[in-house]
Amino acid sequence: MSFQVHAKDLLGRIGTIKTKSGAFTTPHMFPVLDPHHRVLGSEFFDRVGINAVMTNAYLLKRGRQGMDPVDVHGTLGYQGSVATDSGAYQILEYGHVGVTPEEIVAYQEKINTDIGVILDVPTGFRSDVSRARWTVDETVRRADRALEVITRKDILWVGPVQGGVHLEEVERSAREMAKRDFPIYALGSPTELMETQRYDVLVDMIVAAKKALPKGKPFHLFGAGHPVLFPFLVALGCDLFDSAAYALYARAGRYLTPEGTMLLGDMVEFACPCPACVDTSPGELMRSQDAEGGVRLVEHNLWTCFSELRRVREAIRKGRLWELLELRSHAHPALKECFSRITKYAEELERFTPAVKPHGIFYFGSSSDHRPEKLRWVSKLPGSLQERGKLVLVLPGRWRRPYHEDPRYESIAKAFDDHPRVSICFYSLSWGPVPIELDETFPIAQTEGPDEIDVDVIQERATQVSEYLDGLYPKGVILVSDGEYGRAVRKELSKMLAKRLLTVFDGQKLRPDAIVKSIERKIALLA
Ligand SMILES: [Zn+2]
Repeated sequence: MSFQVHAKDLLGRIGTIKTKSGAFTTPHMFPVLDPHHRVLGSEFFDRVGINAVMTNAYLLKRGRQGMDPVDVHGTLGYQGSVATDSGAYQILEYGHVGVTPEEIVAYQEKINTDIGVILDVPTGFRSDVSRARWTVDETVRRADRALEVITRKDILWVGPVQGGVHLEEVERSAREMAKRDFPIYALGSPTELMETQRYDVLVDMIVAAKKALPKGKPFHLFGAGHPVLFPFLVALGCDLFDSAAYALYARAGRYLTPEGTMLLGDMVEFACPCPACVDTSPGELMRSQDAEGGVRLVEHNLWTCFSELRRVREAIRKGRLWELLELRSHAHPALKECFSRITKYAEELERFTPAVKPHGIFYFGSSSDHRPEKLRWVSKLPGSLQERGKLVLVLPGRWRRPYHEDPRYESIAKAFDDHPRVSICFYSLSWGPVPIELDETFPIAQTEGPDEIDVDVIQERATQVSEYLDGLYPKGVILVSDGEYGRAVRKELSKMLAKRLLTVFDGQKLRPDAIVKSIERKIALLA
């Protein structure tokens, strides 16, 4: 087995997993197939690009009682990689499942699975801490027993992490599983959290597990299959998902979109261009819901999941996963909350985000302030190149990048760029204070941001600019004020600096050559 990572952004990554039956790209969702009821053929999977599926080894075993185990690829009519679940979810639903951990490992080996799961004990959503502790300990005991009886090393075995909503237990479970060499690790029990939209807890659980697990191994989140969550889950480092939601939802006439679920009965026309939707209407599908319409809905739901995974991967390649999170966070208030919870872990995300990206970044206002590039900027700024104890010329950094090439103020920047007693700093809406020495570096010169922005953000930026300038112990500050932002910077500076240290020129009223002359006089005066 190998897991190769090709690209990263935030904690998300694009990788390839190789099994004995082939390779597939991550992030990936295993569609969970009912072994006794085949709806989709392998041509459909090929067409969508689904190179790995999942089925339940426990249900398969139970459904074929008295029969010899046969190759699961034949049972499913699918020759790509097959993952099998062990029945742990059935424990959660019905209690005891009547199969031992050893039996289910042996069974998965006999049916020639490619990715197998040991029989863990799911913690569930409602367990108290002592029950959670027991499920963690019992899962570790079962992992050890499974590792003793495993004979096939060509199967990728999954080590499940439990602990439920008890984060210290999740972390302990992950630490224990990390000591055991599993090719893939997984986090259990998130389904109810997703159904009740407790995304905040889900985010905390994923971070707690990821922290303690080896970084180079794939990470699977059990039971996640709604496309609205994919960008967020991938951004937190989930590589694999599995779900039957695409089929269960279809049965109830529920239509998946990357922004949420819709009811077929509430829709008039399809916006989706997938092959299942393109030449039909919701009404038509409703009328044939029991036959072709039902299958089409299943197909559409899968197209949507895999199209969103492609979108996520493209965003990672372009270094724009954060932008995708911002976009998707507006699809539902619960997703907005999910996104704010993720920003709590901005430092973790920062550590894994590339320092230089193939494309510039977009700045949308305060929601972009937690992105890794911004954190990095804020932390490096105090120790930046700008010299202390000089006269600081403060110019607007707005319309053209790099800022010193903006035609409106270019001649002023040029006149003092090499002046031994003057240093230049721009005030930027996206980045706050930007010393001229850094205005050509990534991502400052590659940022697209709006020119109009909330008053609150302008005020916050103005404070940052004046605090930064104060830290330079300037001999004096000469501000060229322009627009509302310029006025806010002026107000903040006048609060912070002695009156004689601050000189302000109105950039909108005065011509640049007149400003240059006045600045020269000011420098002479201060000499
Ligand atoms: Zn569609």
